Amino acid sequence: MLLVDAHCHINLAKNPKEAISSALENGVAAIICSGDSLKDSEECIELADGKRIFATIGVGPDFACKETNYVEWLKEKIKENKGKVVGIGEIGLDAKVECNVKKQEEVFRDQIKLAKEFGMPIVVHSRQMINRVIEILKEEKAEKAMLHFFEGDEKHAIELASMGYFLSFPPLESSRRNRIIKMLSLNNIVTETDSPFAGKEPSDVLKAVEIIARIKGVSMESAADAITQNIRNLFNINIVQGP
Ligand SMILES: [Zn+2]
Repeated sequence: MLLVDAHCHINLAKNPKEAISSALENGVAAIICSGDSLKDSEECIELADGKRIFATIGVGPDFACKETNYVEWLKEKIKENKGKVVGIGEIGLDAKVECNVKKQEEVFRDQIKLAKEFGMPIVVHSRQMINRVIEILKEEKAEKAMLHFFEGDEKHAIELASMGYFLSFPPLESSRRNRIIKMLSLNNIVTETDSPFAGKEPSDVLKAVEIIARIKGVSMESAADAITQNIRNLFNINIVQGP
């Protein structure tokens, strides 16, 4: 059974290298480290080996008003780190950060375009902005996307799944998330921990798979297989068992 943490910030763990070894020892087959500033993106790239650890790079809402020349920077990094950089993100919109929404949207759109230019998926962050996020994904015709820590309701989930996107769920239950998991096809579900936030670590992704398997009424193996296949397809990466 292959377990994958499709979204975390392992570079922010107290000791990232130790956190990675511990995750791999505890059965995690692959980890995707996402940056939301250029500094964090660089740190994720440094940790990536293109085998077990992969990076997605980008400027998130929190940094949208702070970073400049980010498109050029991201392009360079994508070209220099083939096989390690596998997507753009996390990017998106957040109603709770200082940066104004107009600027956030501009930065979000720039990076959707960039992802399309390179045929890469985007890792989308949304906090209290899901309707606007969906409008922008449509307007920009985003091709491949994963909605990290999915915050929407059933209506949003149906719409996003019909657009071919993936919804990502953490190892935390809520009645809303459980309803959505029940309704969605396993073909649209991926798992993440967002660690080290909320005191999680990548091996907690096992719990996310357990929740999904239980709600879907399938074995752990078949849930994990479907999820891992989704992550392979989305990020175009090879995920294999073993050290
Ligand atoms: Zn995150």
